[in-house]
Amino acid sequence: MDSDGVQHASNIETDPRDLPVEAVRNADGSWMQVTVRIAGRNVVARIWKALVGRVSVYLLDTNCKENASEDREITHRLYGGDAAVRIRQEMILGLGGVRALRALGMAPAVWHMNEGHAAFLILELVREGVAAGLDFAAALESAATQCVFTTHTPVAAGHDAFDVGLFTHCFQDLHTELGVSAERLFDLGRAPRAHVFNMTNLALNGARRMNGVSRIHGAVSSRLCADHWPEIPPEQNPVGYVTNGVHVPTFLAQTWSRFFDGVLGPEWRERLSDRDFWHSLTKVPDYDFWETAQQVKARMLDGVRARLRREYRAKDLNPAQLRRITRLLDPEQPNVLTLGFARRFATYKRASLMLRDRARLLRLISSEERPVLFLFAGKAHPADHPGQQVLREIKQLMLTPEFAGSVVFLEDYDMQLARWLVTGVDVWLNNPVAPLEASGTSGIKAAVNGRLNVSILDGWWAEGFDHNNGWGIPAADAQDADRRDALDAAAMLDAIEEEVVPLYYTRNQDGYSPEWVRRCKRAMMTVIPHFNMGRVVQDYARGVYYPAAQHHERLMRGGAPAARQFSGWKQRVRERWPGVALRRLTDTPRELPRAGMLNVRVAAALNGLKPDDVRVEFVARRVLPRSRSEPPPLSSFRTDSHDDAWRALLRPNGEIDSDGSAVYELQAAPPNCGQFAFEIRIFPWHDMLAHPLEMGLLRRL
Ligand SMILES: *Cc1c(COP(=O)(O)O)cnc(C)c1O
Repeated sequence: MDSDGVQHASNIETDPRDLPVEAVRNADGSWMQVTVRIAGRNVVARIWKALVGRVSVYLLDTNCKENASEDREITHRLYGGDAAVRIRQEMILGLGGVRALRALGMAPAVWHMNEGHAAFLILELVREGVAAGLDFAAALESAATQCVFTTHTPVAAGHDAFDVGLFTHCFQDLHTELGVSAERLFDLGRAPRAHVFNMTNLALNGARRMNGVSRIHGAVSSRLCADHWPEIPPEQNPVGYVTNGVHVPTFLAQTWSRFFDGVLGPEWRERLSDRDFWHSLTKVPDYDFWETAQQVKARMLDGVRARLRREYRAKDLNPAQLRRITRLLDPEQPNVLTLGFARRFATYKRASLMLRDRARLLRLISSEERPVLFLFAGKAHPADHPGQQVLREIKQLMLTPEFAGSVVFLEDYDMQLARWLVTGVDVWLNNPVAPLEASGTSGIKAAVNGRLNVSILDGWWAEGFDHNNGWGIPAADAQDADRRDALDAAAMLDAIEEEVVPLYYTRNQDGYSPEWVRRCKRAMMTVIPHFNMGRVVQDYARGVYYPAAQHHERLMRGGAPAARQFSGWKQRVRERWPGVALRRLTDTPRELPRAGMLNVRVAAALNGLKPDDVRVEFVARRVLPRSRSEPPPLSSFRTDSHDDAWRALLRPNGEIDSDGSAVYELQAAPPNCGQFAFEIRIFPWHDMLAHPLEMGLLRRL
């Protein structure tokens, strides 16, 4: 950053010999590589392997002599290219990625796409299916049952789209190889209201299990993707959620690891998800806990101060100003309330929100007895000029005399700086525009380290906040953006001024605030067991991966007759569906009978479909009393998650109505009493469906 606060991007050339990666070799010693045909040219990518713990990560690199010079550039830098580079990167990743794993002799049971970036892998799996003798539709069913799609942001910039010209130019005649028209291929990624190929639409078409990364984000994604299931109310479509977590051994400060070894025993590593185990933190002496937290904070202050000194020396800046800026950054005196904000400077994250009301901010930081320090760090995407403007605003405030030393911006945000900050600041801030924060994972890292979040109730925090482990700020619901920002900023500052600062500085004779320490312990003991990566992997494995693997196995067993039958069935259902209708034969009940039987009858016009091709269902959704507020289930794919509805199937009773419709009937004793909203509905049914409403077809009464 220059002294005007302008961010300058520089790309650092990396030499693979300096990286912990190795070339993957064939038996004959030659470098293993794959070929992808892009825009009528063969592009070669060679395979590297990195070991991350016990996990092998394979990397593809097109910087090979065989390639045309512009193709060598494809994997040169991740960001900064145009759409023509981006589509080539994604072809290498998606098509080349499948081929690389095949070349390595791997046969994944499930393919998990994180964001749409890798979604071209669907096309490669379809191509494999067609090459093995399936038709396009059956090959797509096969691929889709094997594929899982996780979306990580509702922000449009995270969803790549390519215009039809570029797509056609790059893929050329792939469609003939797949046995379909160019248009049918393009339809796989067609965005609902724009003539572009959108990777998220491809992923929705080519995956049968899909999710967001927190409960709120799952609901937001359901709405964003609602067009994909046009007849399904968004909240009932197949988009679920698995709330994110963090890899605790990576993000917990080592000082805390050693502390836990001492007070909990080394088995804490195996008991990360054990709530009762972590509850024993309450018994740890407050003083020891506080001292450990202070050591971690001192480490952060030391690192941050060293970085600022280095920056000032490198830029030959004024030493008096450096002294002013670092005056509160004293590892020997780590007792200034320190609030941190560090992440990408995407505009929806509103990095400068706390700085809106300068007068109020000045009052907050000016107290001699209760000083407050704000640390900011982050980078904006090179093409994100509004994001860079936010960063500039903070940097300029840092150089204003009244704020110097109390508002500090740290440049060159990287993983080391991020680690210092999430482990070392007293308070972690996250103040996004709700509901745009899919997860806000850095807040989990802070809480795992016993730091307190003061954050908008969005993303993971809406599930993690329990009123005692930090501060949850309800988002303002103002429509006007400026007013919304003002209200959110005021609410954040209210919490900081009226609760955080007094609590932090109410110290006992040992020099710490017992109530503060109680909350820090509470943050660790509530967040570690629910938001660790082991829990996340379990939720994906049980709720998504195993079901997908079994589903695919069922579909493909014995030469894939089920895949052919199922895709043919879907096509028939789609053709017939416009003529399917439900008609009431009994009044819908106003309430469930307290005793005795509920009787419901409808006439279903099936338009040539068989009774077995559909389900007719009675649904009673509870309106009152509201269900007990239980801890949220953290994943919609858990068997214990439920939507508080009572469902019962209506069955054909053999009667045919005057217009030829089949009569469906329900006789049942409902289990609950209370106030309900009722619905009778019909939808296609097949035991190969991954989700009852997967086809997006539904008629309701
Ligand atoms: C975890 C992490 C993030 C994510 O932060 P959000 O809270 O999701 O904005 C960003 N940068 C780094 C270096 C991280 O480790």
